[in-house]
Amino acid sequence: MCGIFGIEGYDDAANHVYLGLYALQHRGQESTGIVAWDGRRMPVERGMGHVAEVFSAASLARLRGRRAIGHTRYSTAGSSVIGNAQPIVVRTSMGSIGIVHNGNLTNAASLRRRLEAEGAIFQTTSDTEVILHLMARNPRPEIVESLLSALADIEGAFSLLVVTESCLVAARDSHGFRPLAMAKLGAATCFASESCAFDLLGASSARELDPGEVVVVRESGVTSHQLPATPTPKRCAFEHVYFARPDSVVFGDAVGEVRRRLGAQLAREAPADADVVVPVPDSGLFAAIGYSRESGLPFELGMTRNHYVGRTFIEPRQSIRNFGVKVKLNPVRSIIGGRRVVLIDDSIVRGTTSRKIVRMMREAGAAEVHLRISSPPTAWSCYYGIDTPRRKELIAANYPVDDIRAFVEADTLAYLSLDGLLRSLSGPRESYCTACWTGDYSVAITGEDRRQVELFPVATEEDGTAD
Ligand code: SF4
Repeated sequence: MCGIFGIEGYDDAANHVYLGLYALQHRGQESTGIVAWDGRRMPVERGMGHVAEVFSAASLARLRGRRAIGHTRYSTAGSSVIGNAQPIVVRTSMGSIGIVHNGNLTNAASLRRRLEAEGAIFQTTSDTEVILHLMARNPRPEIVESLLSALADIEGAFSLLVVTESCLVAARDSHGFRPLAMAKLGAATCFASESCAFDLLGASSARELDPGEVVVVRESGVTSHQLPATPTPKRCAFEHVYFARPDSVVFGDAVGEVRRRLGAQLAREAPADADVVVPVPDSGLFAAIGYSRESGLPFELGMTRNHYVGRTFIEPRQSIRNFGVKVKLNPVRSIIGGRRVVLIDDSIVRGTTSRKIVRMMREAGAAEVHLRISSPPTAWSCYYGIDTPRRKELIAANYPVDDIRAFVEADTLAYLSLDGLLRSLSGPRESYCTACWTGDYSVAITGEDRRQVELFPVATEEDGTAD
């Protein structure tokens, strides 16, 4: 998962990208970067860490120009090193090109092997670099034609922004796995993974790109292209469950509203004989509000979160994970003590951290802990850009719900049904990807591409999403 932001036609574009990236920090905390086109050069600034750590007034001052794109990254393909930080910038016979990408390409390994056999020399282990090699090997007088040709060769999930010497391009894969929206900022056009970035800048007239849409923005105007043969969209339902910010509108739905509906549906499907509803912050917050309203049980912030610790789910350094849960979460004893608690979270991945949280609640004096999960059991890996572990590490892939309940040491455990999840979304059921709950993968990943994804150590942490 990553966050991307770009702007065309605004003085000091990089400064606005920098602000946009602040709003998208939750989508990736491992590295960040911005590239700008100043009319002569394409300077780039990248670094490991958060937006606030990487950029300075001096580094932003080096990024002049009216066209810029930026990225917040966590690794789903390629290791966590500065060499894989984005934007990736190259010089080709068509001029300089910079790219940022959210998603995972499912045929990157086989494309890379083919390109290397033809002589390509890769600079990173990121799947995104494949796109640049495809472009460089197929130069066209009009650079957008070269990009469209490259996009026709790649498969899987991509929302991406490309800056060239003549234009800014935004593209979304034909399934529309990952969100990407555009808006106006005065006369300028900007793009963001989520609408919360537009709110920050005061951008207006936001709309999401259609699946398979490619938008080209020049100083002279905006044109839209469509990638061929758009199948049924497969928008990532997990964006609504966990990943997107609750103040964003994603796939036509207000994320916070969806989460409240998930919680209300969960209360209908899995009521609990309890005294209080407590969210695991922040991921269970809105669902807990929905559960509380529907059940009539009081909502209490019975657990606090230290916001200065990164989300363990997207933090790839083992040293952070080892003590992550206790650093991050602490129960409020005065609320928990002696009460029967309904604890709400968005998902259970390995179960290890859910168990730690349940234990924490008991140590804080909870009389009972009834764990309720606002999505179905996560039983399959994601190949489309969310950092879930290998299947064998997913507790729900290997054990029935009652065994999971025993493992996490809850008094009761219940998940939201898939039907309940899909009924909480406003789009047609078939327009969402639900593969991490059903194993129904709409883009197959086979052979060396699958081995590459499964061998790659992207999610070896002890803790998972909810955890
Ligand atoms: Fe989203 Fe799950 Fe599909 Fe991945 S497999 S795109 S996390 S719904």
